[in-house]
Amino acid sequence: MAKLVGVTLSERVSAGLVVDHKLTGPLHYFPESLDDEYALVEMPTEGIVRTLCDRVLAAAGEEKAIAAVGVGLPGLIKNGVIEEAPNLPQLKGARIAEQLAATLLEHGLAAPVSLVNDADGFAAGIAAVHGKLDSLIRVWTIGIGIGYGRYPFAEGTWEGGHTVVSMDEKEHFCGCGGRGHVEGIMGHRSMRLRFLDMEPEEVFEAAKKGDARCLDFKRLWHKALAAATANSIHMTGPGKFYLAGFNVRFLDMPMLKDYMQQMVKMSPLQSYSLEVVQDDTQTRVIGAAVSAEQAAGR
Ligand SMILES: [Zn+2]
Repeated sequence: MAKLVGVTLSERVSAGLVVDHKLTGPLHYFPESLDDEYALVEMPTEGIVRTLCDRVLAAAGEEKAIAAVGVGLPGLIKNGVIEEAPNLPQLKGARIAEQLAATLLEHGLAAPVSLVNDADGFAAGIAAVHGKLDSLIRVWTIGIGIGYGRYPFAEGTWEGGHTVVSMDEKEHFCGCGGRGHVEGIMGHRSMRLRFLDMEPEEVFEAAKKGDARCLDFKRLWHKALAAATANSIHMTGPGKFYLAGFNVRFLDMPMLKDYMQQMVKMSPLQSYSLEVVQDDTQTRVIGAAVSAEQAAGR
């Protein structure tokens, strides 16, 4: 059974040994304490590569026959190069896969390294954990921004969080600056910009109590997700959509399904389904490993 190492790189590095698509042993972190959340932001690229190397070696332990190493990170990734990394701008243009493979080799570990967009890695992790490696999986992560990942691997770009779901000129709250984007409606940051006097939690609470402005927004929030999902169905076909991230707590599934029914009318496209899943580091680490295994086989 192939032994793999999966790594995620976000506010911290997390690495684990993955055997038979399951996590074996503990995760290895950097920084070890979450208090030190800016440790990576301030680190130059060479330091990040060394840190990744350390954690991969720790995860591999005594195991030297590692079939592949996968690193999931936020940003646009093409052929092992990070073309855009919003959270770690120093990585833009860095050939991380090549540099990490070379550094690992210096430490006696010869394995192909591949990079995967973290949202796509999460989708691969969900596919592995749910036994759906032969299915089309899409996942929305509903948090500070809106992430969109898909599995299986395909060449291309899908910045699903920036799907245009409104023609309204006043819809300009997206972090990317684009108008009418789903993230500009649903993202936590965007909601705070829209409701300067209320936190998102208070908005959804007030909607429950019938506050007209908040109820309108709750409907808009669900319509935006329905529209982005419907667009994905019309472009790529029906299938399973997972919903994760800390703001799935605001989700009213019957409301979402109602809007979906209004937006997807062609009967061959109606075999889609929606399910909430837990977003956790373990799934993301497994997904990065599985993505690397599949990349090594291509
Ligand atoms: Zn945007």
